[in-house]
Amino acid sequence: MSEKTVYPFGGSASHDDTRQKDKEVTGGKGANLAEMASIGLPVPPGFTITTEECVRYLQEGADFSDGLRSDVAKALTHIESAVGKSFGDSADPLLVSVRSGARVSMPGMMDTVLNLGLNDATVEGLATTSGDERFAWDSYRRFIQMYSDVVLGLDHGLFEEALEIAKEDNGFYADTELSADDWKTLVGEFKSIVEQEWGKPFPQDVNEQLWGAIRAVFDSWDSDRAKVYRRLNDIPADWGTAVNVQAMVFGNMGETSATGVAFTRDPATGERAYYGEYLINAQGEDVVAGIRTPQYLTKVARENAGAKPLSMEEAMPDAYGELARVFDLLENHYRDMQDIEFTVERGKLWMLQTRSGKRTAKAALKMAVEMVGEGLITKEEAVARVDPMALDQLLHPTLDPDAERSVLTTGLPASPGAASGKIVLDADTAEVFASRGDKVILVRVETSPEDIHGMHAAQGILTARGGMTSHAAVVARGMGRPCVSGASGVSIDRAGRTLRIGSQELKEGDEITLDGANGQVMLGIVPTVDPELAGDFGTLMEWADALRRMRVRTNAETPDDCRMARQFGAEGIGLCRTEHMFFDARRIRAVRQMILAEDEKTRLSALDQLLPEQRGDFAAIFEVMAGLPCTIRLLDPPLHEFLPHNDEDFEDLADATGLGVDHLKRRADELHEFNPMLGHRGCRLGITFPEIYEMQARAIFEAACAVQKSSGEAPLPEIMIPLVATRKELAILRALVDRVAKTVFEEQGTEVAYLVGTMIELPRAALMAGEIAEEGEFFSFGTNDLTQTTLGVSRDDSAKFLAPYVDKGIFARDPFVSLDVEGVGQLVDMAAESGRVTRPDIKLGICGEHGGDPASIAFCEEVNLDYVSASPYRVPIARLAAAQAALAAD
Ligand code: ADP
Ligand code: MG
Ligand code: MG
Repeated sequence: MSEKTVYPFGGSASHDDTRQKDKEVTGGKGANLAEMASIGLPVPPGFTITTEECVRYLQEGADFSDGLRSDVAKALTHIESAVGKSFGDSADPLLVSVRSGARVSMPGMMDTVLNLGLNDATVEGLATTSGDERFAWDSYRRFIQMYSDVVLGLDHGLFEEALEIAKEDNGFYADTELSADDWKTLVGEFKSIVEQEWGKPFPQDVNEQLWGAIRAVFDSWDSDRAKVYRRLNDIPADWGTAVNVQAMVFGNMGETSATGVAFTRDPATGERAYYGEYLINAQGEDVVAGIRTPQYLTKVARENAGAKPLSMEEAMPDAYGELARVFDLLENHYRDMQDIEFTVERGKLWMLQTRSGKRTAKAALKMAVEMVGEGLITKEEAVARVDPMALDQLLHPTLDPDAERSVLTTGLPASPGAASGKIVLDADTAEVFASRGDKVILVRVETSPEDIHGMHAAQGILTARGGMTSHAAVVARGMGRPCVSGASGVSIDRAGRTLRIGSQELKEGDEITLDGANGQVMLGIVPTVDPELAGDFGTLMEWADALRRMRVRTNAETPDDCRMARQFGAEGIGLCRTEHMFFDARRIRAVRQMILAEDEKTRLSALDQLLPEQRGDFAAIFEVMAGLPCTIRLLDPPLHEFLPHNDEDFEDLADATGLGVDHLKRRADELHEFNPMLGHRGCRLGITFPEIYEMQARAIFEAACAVQKSSGEAPLPEIMIPLVATRKELAILRALVDRVAKTVFEEQGTEVAYLVGTMIELPRAALMAGEIAEEGEFFSFGTNDLTQTTLGVSRDDSAKFLAPYVDKGIFARDPFVSLDVEGVGQLVDMAAESGRVTRPDIKLGICGEHGGDPASIAFCEEVNLDYVSASPYRVPIARLAAAQAALAAD
């Protein structure tokens, strides 16, 4: 019960407790700092407060426990003795950073506070011990700025403005031109801003500073920003964040000091080349904040970019050599590409962070495949490592290399892919435009965590400032959005909602195209070409296919979709909906005639018109799916959905049928339903209008026989009766299908194999599955309806309350996106089990949207389904997820 609340790292700390290297306990940053320290890398000493303490603090109404207070005090002495300085000592002060760190990196969390422990007295001590007064006052002003922003919640614009004015007054361009006295004056101004805005003087008590920062980290777990990010990334609300307090090392101690961020391989392309940026005489966030333009890490990268300022390799060869050694060491240790943050203090390298780096899907594939080749990882690990959802980025079109491009300006190729859309200048507008179906490009000076929702709504992101590791670049790569950053040819007039790109004047709503692979920004919409499915993609998918047990089918109802799905590797159709085939303008008239007919004769004449059309539909699909199983669902939606909508529809129908408009309207009124989703639909249609299902069955069998004759490759039709609740319904309709099959086979003088089965999508069907299996040769879990009917939640009306439900942790994820495994999953498990008892060779699959969701696919593996079915673009995702599920099950 009395687990440790605080874990010291670095210095003489022992890192033996396994909990310390467990991200769930110490967060990603804390766990990796301990790991790096334990393998002997230079990590400034510090300590980590556990995520458990954060959860406890939030549960107990934002209160620190006494235990935590004394544990932190003790851990602080660990840092003091390791560094040989005391916290708050005005002669030789220890300064620390306070850093948040959840299990996974979260841009929504509190920003880091650096140089904590400075006050009016300790700043003098720092000046003396460092022998650099300018450095001391620069650090103090940074501290006030950061603390005021992230802990006190004051408007950071006020401080930036004061700094801008100071620079202008002196005719300075860069921060580095300010002298010790300039910074001293500015500190005075900063302090009066704080007093004015906050109502109290800037805290001078170093312990008050420390606890204020710890509190701010804990509180930030429940900030709006963090909540949005959690929702978008399916991060549970009960994880909490750890806090890392760490001795400062200084990259701002003059020309032999620097700070930087790096990747051990190129996170955009996956190429095996060190990749990163650094800044001389700078601290922490300067690199990513886009305040100064960072310099390249390697000579090659600098030369390729045609840049002048020296690379780190050239300017600081010793520190660079050490860094390169650490890169290789870390990559071998973690057996993955690492994203690294470091600082050089007067020539000495210090490691401040490492983690497995975010990467584009393309890079993820390349690295996974190459690391297998290098012997660093196994094929299984390669397959397990690529995020299936990320594949989506690769399946979509890229810019047509032959298309004409009217290039307005070029920025940095921060995240690859092509994106076209209307310009929007802020995140909220992006959301509004996107919600009405517009494709948008978010254009900002630079992005911050407050922009996440807009970045998500946008097709692509363009920023005027910021490097390859800026917020925009990192987040866009993570989200799979194309991004061009640091396009200095872009200038934005936010008030006027206009902008200039290169020499072109544009306004919000105008269309542009981004090429994230080369940084080009183009006028208008540039045409695209289809993706390349061979190469690394093909290799990894081959490995995945060899590892998976479940089959992967597709949900498709047009020959084009089927063709695409087969290119993506579909092994059959899991759900062919037939209702969409009825909506075509010509056919809808016959459909309406059919359902509004009062006598069988009129109905049959309408069905006669539909039969050849349906037969043609199925034949075209069967040709594409040659030889593969095709589950075809007989008509399912409420008749209601086919009713005429307006007078024009009625008149058109009256002309076609010879029936009066009034008569038709009366009949339509009779068919009107209050709750159509629970109304006259599914097999209830087949029971009440057997002619409809007869026509469909006939169309299927005739088409199958025809394809069998013409190509010799009959598909395996699996005729699926929807919305069955009782054995009797299925028995009646199965007899109907068998009867039609027999007739058609006699007429055609040939036979094809087929199955009849049902969708399990009502709780009663799941409960009675053992009995239903006596009539059905397969079950396909229709988890969309099964979720609606089990939860009693209408999918179409749930948007209003599901988001807050997810925020409050009532559901970990939207149950329509990811299967509610505990609830709905129990029904699936039970039905699969009792279905198998009745009929050991029963075929079991899933055809709801969940069939393309990796977490739901993992569940399907657990309950031993035979296949999953997903929309065409999700097929590769499902193949990879099924392989991962099989690996996890081993
Ligand atoms: P984030 O999670 O946003 O990356 P970090 O906690 O990693 O935030 O801090 C951001 C940057 O601040 C680091 O990359 C590093 O440059 C700087 N930093 C953090 N702690 C220290 C420290 N103890 N000494 C020097 N720089 C630090
Ligand atoms: Mg940060
Ligand atoms: Mg960091």
